[in-house]
Amino acid sequence: MNAIHTIDDYERYIGKEAVRRVKEKARPLRDMHVMHMNSTYYGGGVSQILASLTLLMNSLGIQTGWRVVHGPPDFFSVTKKFHNALQGGEINMTGRKKEVYESVVHENAIRNHLDHDVVIIHDPQPLPLITHYRRKSPWIWRCHLDLTAPNRKVWNYLVPFIERYDAVILSCGEYRRDLKKPQVFFTPGIDPFSIVNKDLSENAIDERLEHYGIPTDLPLVVQISRFDRWKDPEGVIRAFQKARKEEECTLVLVGNVATDDPEGAEVYRSLLAHRNERIIVKSVQDGALVNALQRRAAVVLQKSIREGFGLTVSEAMWKGAAVIGGNVGGIRQQIEDGKSGFLVSSVDEAAERIVRLLRDPDLRGRMGNAARERVREHFLFTRTVEQYLDLIGSFEP
Ligand code: UDP
Repeated sequence: MNAIHTIDDYERYIGKEAVRRVKEKARPLRDMHVMHMNSTYYGGGVSQILASLTLLMNSLGIQTGWRVVHGPPDFFSVTKKFHNALQGGEINMTGRKKEVYESVVHENAIRNHLDHDVVIIHDPQPLPLITHYRRKSPWIWRCHLDLTAPNRKVWNYLVPFIERYDAVILSCGEYRRDLKKPQVFFTPGIDPFSIVNKDLSENAIDERLEHYGIPTDLPLVVQISRFDRWKDPEGVIRAFQKARKEEECTLVLVGNVATDDPEGAEVYRSLLAHRNERIIVKSVQDGALVNALQRRAAVVLQKSIREGFGLTVSEAMWKGAAVIGGNVGGIRQQIEDGKSGFLVSSVDEAAERIVRLLRDPDLRGRMGNAARERVREHFLFTRTVEQYLDLIGSFEP
């Protein structure tokens, strides 16, 4: 079992002053009841964020809960279509979709008595909950998606729900929309003590890789992501195939399927056709394997074509990996191109950077060091906690 950590444990990473600041900001909020609600307990970044965030908030004296919206597969099929459209995909906005969405959320509202001092709703799945309560306290909508260019049909449908909230949190300024309510911008961050991120011995890394039969005779090129088209796994395979004509390496695509993402299994199956001795595709739910791969990889890819933030990028950077990320949304915020990793906009660019990094261990080392420092300064979740405290503290009592 992972130990439960308090803010003092993070001092070694963030320093005394940051620890003091977080405690000071938490003090006036002690004993408040805060509720987070999203749509899955595992799989995907939001569940990772909430797992760490809710524990640390409690250790700071803020009574923080976490609930999950429940629904049948039909509901998650509709909400995944909304998710895709919010990231710019096409959608056929039918009355049936709206009916499924709104009625399942209504049922959840009946079962969930949200009488908290602050309610924080994550992503579109539980968004309309707010319409079912007589509110006495602030409600915040925290959207983790890449809102660079949302489909107008779905956006216009959701705006009346969004505008009932007291504030909206988005991951970067580029996602700002025309809304009547205040928009706040901050990214999530990673927990250095989580299973995915905590220190691992070389033996433990070997053991995990061996357990899953991952060959280590050639340098590893790795992408770890939910099986989702936005993560561009096909593009990763094409880039790898191109790079491999110049440098020997093995590609490992590891992913999981979140309970709120019904398309994952199909994306996974479509990738299986590419498997061979040097292209390993695995669907597993094992944070320690993610950790081991990010540590052992020569190159980590996150070649997304849309990405709200992309925790996997900071996770790999934290481990000193050389990361190649898609030049989009949240990844652009994390990687400084050419310094703490590479940003790419095409398969050819990705292939070229893979080859360059495989040939140049010094470059990998320099980028990895800069990457770890960048995450330490900007993308540890203690900073996210502090921003939540600032926001909660900003509401009138
Ligand atoms: N993850 C995991 N196992 C996998 C794939 C992903 O534990 O096989 C974790 C990953 O380490 C990260 C999260 O799931 O913490 C994915 O978050 P991210 O923000 O990168 O993407 P999302 O899935 O939310 O779009």
